[in-house]
Amino acid sequence: MARYPKPMARLIEELVRLPGVGPKTAQRLAFFLISQTPAEVQSLTDSMLQAKQRIIYCSQCFHLTEEDPCPICSNPKRNKNFICVVEEPRDVIAMERTKSFDGIYHVLHGSISPLEGIGPNDLKVKELVARIGPDVQEVVLATDPNVEGEATAMYLARLLKPIGVKVTRMAHGMPVGSDLEYVDEVTLSKALEGRREL
Ligand code: ZN
Repeated sequence: MARYPKPMARLIEELVRLPGVGPKTAQRLAFFLISQTPAEVQSLTDSMLQAKQRIIYCSQCFHLTEEDPCPICSNPKRNKNFICVVEEPRDVIAMERTKSFDGIYHVLHGSISPLEGIGPNDLKVKELVARIGPDVQEVVLATDPNVEGEATAMYLARLLKPIGVKVTRMAHGMPVGSDLEYVDEVTLSKALEGRREL
């Protein structure tokens, strides 16, 4: 097999590290990039570096943000007594798109998965418990409707209920086994409306 010139081979090597990018896609992307003008490539690399340098996690909800606390946590119009627990920052984006949730979030950064060796200590669970003060009226568990998401919801319900807070779970009707971020807005908003107490 003919070898690529070194800089091209290195570019392919870097691209193949990206999630969901196999060797074929990496080659295609590399060819695309070298066909671009230097300014276009510069703009892409700038955006990557800026995102990396400027994005931090909110110290309260652990969502992605440029300022801490994030605009949702610092918005006086949001109901601070209603916490929606999600797995990933992209789930916050999905929930926000529905425009039907006026509370605040807590991002776990994953779900409990014994198979992958991910336990509660690997997630922002301690941080969630620490946020449950006497003012918090309800915690809605909006983890994904798949095996790991359900296990995580059950675990959190058992942990939070003894604290004396109302714990609810998003209603069924969301496609089982799916990812919250891919559920359409109407379904997601109905699932929130029809949440049931655990
Ligand atoms: Zn926040």
